[in-house]
Amino acid sequence: MKLSRRALLQTTAAFAVAAGAPEAVSKLAKWLKGHTPRGVPALAADGSTGRLVVLDAVPEAGRPAVARAAGAGHSTAAVAPGAPAAPGAVATHRFVMVIDLARCDGCGACTEACNAFHFVPPGQEWIKVCRLKDSENTAPYWFPRPCMQCDNPPCVTVCPVSATYKREDGIVMQDNDRCIGCRFCIAACPYGARYFNWVEPLHSPEERSATYNIEMQYPHRKGVVEKCVFCPSLVGEGELPACARACPMGAIWFGDEVEDIAANSQGQRMKLSELIRQNGGYRYLEELGTEPRVYYLPPRRRVYPAPPDETAT
Ligand code: SF4
Ligand code: SF4
Repeated sequence: MKLSRRALLQTTAAFAVAAGAPEAVSKLAKWLKGHTPRGVPALAADGSTGRLVVLDAVPEAGRPAVARAAGAGHSTAAVAPGAPAAPGAVATHRFVMVIDLARCDGCGACTEACNAFHFVPPGQEWIKVCRLKDSENTAPYWFPRPCMQCDNPPCVTVCPVSATYKREDGIVMQDNDRCIGCRFCIAACPYGARYFNWVEPLHSPEERSATYNIEMQYPHRKGVVEKCVFCPSLVGEGELPACARACPMGAIWFGDEVEDIAANSQGQRMKLSELIRQNGGYRYLEELGTEPRVYYLPPRRRVYPAPPDETAT
């Protein structure tokens, strides 16, 4: 029986996971080196250190740059937060999202807009509005959770086929033409921001007739991982991502670290640095070292009533 490259990669990745040993991962690395198409960067684990190394650093024509340490052979985990993607490259944008928890009233318009824009399969919420409560005596609040577009992304470090990678503008992309469905990235992401298509998703006629577009993340298909990618087709044109422009409260700010500017759906503009610093901005689970590109402003002086306490999680 002849196996496709995708099926072979899936089998090999499953073997490595099951074995759970550096030797097995090293075998996977050697196998991948021989089976990755020419011109496509391949990342795999170094059997002696357990860290990811670049096996073939030649970028494919037209493919967005992959963030990596200068020179082949460096671990992707060694890429400095905020560093340009390629040696000598100067990023013209470094996108950042700032979510004001004092403004979010949990309406879910952001999730709906994202679902509609990307034809997100049923059951997935690439931006998920959670109800949080930090301790017994504190008030619950709404917490929209997109992909954090981490500058030190564990999902990228573990992907054995470079299906997920970091662009120089800060966006962590997901290429489902390359994904083999091993789901290492889902296990690695501490934010629960990734989803796996266990079944063939329902397709609208418009989605089905489209050619796969990595920036739109559709048409969707069974057996691959998907996630929020900060709407690169919109932000590249200077527009807000679908979630931010749909938020009736102006709770989702989107900005550029290079130009130090942020805007929201209510037409407000601020210096990004001031928005974060003057409002006590923080990053979720910052202590993990993931260097998220999403900041949160604390839910104080709210402009809406607190969510019901009994349903808080
Ligand atoms: S939030 Fe998860 S999926 Fe997004 S970049 Fe970070 S680790 Fe990767
Ligand atoms: S993106 Fe995730 S599921 Fe796809 S190949 Fe990489 S690790 Fe596996």
